[in-house]
Amino acid sequence: MRKFVNLLCNHGNPLPLASDGAGVSLGGIMTPSTYLEPARELPVIDEADVVVVGGGPGGLGAAIAAGRAGVRTILIERFGTFGGTWTAGILSAIMPFPFVRGLFKELHEKLAADGAWRGWHAANNYGDGGTYDSEAIKVLLDRMVVEAGVVPYFFTAFSDVVREGDRVTGVIVESKEGRAVIRAKQVIDSSGDGDLCVRAGAEFEQGRGEDGAVQPMTMIFKMVGVDSARAIRAKQADPDFTKAWQAAKAAGEITVPREDVLAGPNPREGEWNFNTTRIVGKDGTKVRDVSDAMIEGRRQVAEVAAFMRKYVDGFQNAIVSETAPHIGVRETRRIHCDYSVTSKDVIEVTPFEDCIARGNWFIDIHSPTGEGTVRIHPPAGKWYEVPYRSIRPQGLDNVLIASRCIDSSHEAHAAIRITPQVMAIGEAAGLAAATCVKQNLASTRDVDVKALREELRKRGAFV
Ligand SMILES: Cc1cc2nc3c(=O)[nH]c(=O)nc-3n(C[C@H](O)[C@H](O)[C@H](O)COP(=O)(O)OP(=O)(O)OC[C@H]3O[C@@H](n4cnc5c(N)ncnc54)[C@H](O)[C@@H]3O)c2cc1C
Repeated sequence: MRKFVNLLCNHGNPLPLASDGAGVSLGGIMTPSTYLEPARELPVIDEADVVVVGGGPGGLGAAIAAGRAGVRTILIERFGTFGGTWTAGILSAIMPFPFVRGLFKELHEKLAADGAWRGWHAANNYGDGGTYDSEAIKVLLDRMVVEAGVVPYFFTAFSDVVREGDRVTGVIVESKEGRAVIRAKQVIDSSGDGDLCVRAGAEFEQGRGEDGAVQPMTMIFKMVGVDSARAIRAKQADPDFTKAWQAAKAAGEITVPREDVLAGPNPREGEWNFNTTRIVGKDGTKVRDVSDAMIEGRRQVAEVAAFMRKYVDGFQNAIVSETAPHIGVRETRRIHCDYSVTSKDVIEVTPFEDCIARGNWFIDIHSPTGEGTVRIHPPAGKWYEVPYRSIRPQGLDNVLIASRCIDSSHEAHAAIRITPQVMAIGEAAGLAAATCVKQNLASTRDVDVKALREELRKRGAFV
């Protein structure tokens, strides 16, 4: 059986050598810690002007913008839905976005028109946010991608790059069809973790300055069967159920290292979303860490749900209806680009001539080690700016980033990362990549940023 499986994936290379007990070799060389894979020819299965890796908020912004600009665009996604943390993470909450328009505004209006949006107003007058129906958004995102003429590749994982000089001329993908190449003129890294940039040799940083620790992961989950009117009254009487939660903690019933219960109703009657579990000390770029975090996340879900049923009015008959297919990863790598956005840029709202996106969500650091959340606000009514330079990885001529992993400090990342802002960054990246193709530019650094901003404005963006 083992031989058969190995032969299947060996693409006509030499037959297996005898096993010496350390494993069967297939013409490669196996050592106790490595395997030297034999070289093999890969099929080129497609090609595009712009290839976007990762279909989360950033990748969607990029792919839809590039597709609408009329260049052939491919969107590669390892799961079977677009949306990233919106869908695979069942996030359901969207932070206020008073300074984000363009594609995200269109998405918001379409969600509202489909009855899949429930708005709310943030404290401190930071604007309106809302929650969405995480099933309805899947259909809407499919529609927006297809209508933009973007070619979708679901169940296709990015694996490596084909790099020629300072250009990435193709991406190597793995799918049910095996390992293959998709050729590209421009590529956009929207993997969240900067997978493409790192494979292309870009340098990066991870975590906070003093010890490299990253924000915790969270297994988002939903409960149905909630009597929402009663539950909302309970939440008003004990904000974020903090008193009840702390009492249960003191009684030893709760082990989740979070200070309160972050939860609220989504647009579906009787359903609530929970952003309450907290898994610290794990690295989202390590599969064993993510595997352990999935298991710990689901364990914490059961604990939080039991607390809600026992102590919160309106939840007596509620049950867990869904846990996220992929645990929410707030922070991993930040790729070195031509500029790194600092916390000072966020708090003092530095204006940039090459601004491609704006936002006002605050520096919001969920403790990397345990309880507590650090919140540092920019001035109310003001916006900070994301410069084009911060999405251009150093040393690469045809790669842009449309994702949370743009160049920023740990603190600035904690503000920029929210979904409307990331989608706005993506929209600019997609348009810039399309411009490079149409104008046959040698480098993303040759883009006329004034003209890019003008074009973004024409599309309704606020830059
Ligand atoms: C627990 C949690 C709570 C949050 N709360 C909020 C909130 O309330 N409001 C808000 O607006 N924001 C919130 N955020 C922030 C926000 O969700 C993320 O910062 C945002 O989704 C980042 O967008 P992205 O496109 O960079 O990455 P992602 O949303 O992570 O999307 C990346 C996509 O790339 C795909 N991908 C990754 N690697 C590969 C590969 N190798 N091959 C193919 N595909 C790949 C993934 O499957 C995914 O679809 C939260 C985040 C977390 C984790």
